[in-house]
Amino acid sequence: MRTTFKAIALAISGISITSLALAQGPNIDYDKIQIISQQLAPNFYTFTGSPNLDPGHPEAAGGRIGVLVGSEGVLLVDATYLPLSDKVADAIKEVNPGPVRFLVDTHYHPDHTGGNPSFVKTGALLFAREEVRDALMQPLPPATLAVIGKAASFTDPARLPTVTYGPGSPVKIYFDGDTIDLIPLRAAHTDGDTMVRFEKADIIMVGDFYRNYGYPFIDVTRGGSFKGVLEAVDVLLQNAGPNTKLLPGHGTVTTRSDVEAYRDMILDVQSRILQMIREGKSIQEVLAAKLTVRYDSKVPGGATPLPIGVGTSADRFVSSLYTELKSGK
Ligand SMILES: [Zn+2]
Repeated sequence: MRTTFKAIALAISGISITSLALAQGPNIDYDKIQIISQQLAPNFYTFTGSPNLDPGHPEAAGGRIGVLVGSEGVLLVDATYLPLSDKVADAIKEVNPGPVRFLVDTHYHPDHTGGNPSFVKTGALLFAREEVRDALMQPLPPATLAVIGKAASFTDPARLPTVTYGPGSPVKIYFDGDTIDLIPLRAAHTDGDTMVRFEKADIIMVGDFYRNYGYPFIDVTRGGSFKGVLEAVDVLLQNAGPNTKLLPGHGTVTTRSDVEAYRDMILDVQSRILQMIREGKSIQEVLAAKLTVRYDSKVPGGATPLPIGVGTSADRFVSSLYTELKSGK
């Protein structure tokens, strides 16, 4: 138990763990991963990696991809790991002759941006937040690089967004008969999150601030916050109708009622942590109180130890929420 707390303390102080991306490590056998395609609307598909091959994401390797198709070509949301690019390109060819004209990054993590160079080099115009470009330009420490391995290229100029935008109004792309809204979010999962709404397909690519595999996760090294997650959840609920399909970066296709339950869970755990902070409790005492226990049966992967040695996804969630609330930000 002591090791767990020590590791969590390290993780929340940002010393050893910079993001969930680090969980992916060089142990992924990319050759074994298949791309699973699912059609969700006449003009829209989503791709996920096969399960049980990515220790950081056992439910589906890499990050989820969104694929809008039509007579003008393809618009992609996220590009998963770099070594999967050929398989992703093959899966696209199965549903549309192409070309891939646009690519949008929901945030900078390598399980979402690793494949950027592959699609940029074949002609895609890459859109992302300015914060994503900035994050992708930062040199990574050797230890981080060693863990991430070949998930992404950190030197190829084609990894960088061509068109960037800030946290203001949505960017609209009119393409293939649909209207695509790139909705910037305040610091939530990271400081550069975008939610992508397809108006006609009635689909939202949520990004990673909402997930239904494991508990909420924020990247504090890049400005993530639970305050921002709750704001982003409100923006999502404002944009989602009763039948809108919501596609998280990790987890299954879902609807707004699940997102409402997610918000209520965060608010409940938050109020319990605040109460314990008022009582002067330490992080060890808060973790020992197992504040998420009533939700564990409904959160797949929530109580399973993470591969990066920081306890469970529930421990990571409670630790970083405690740190944020204690800081009073
Ligand atoms: Zn992420």
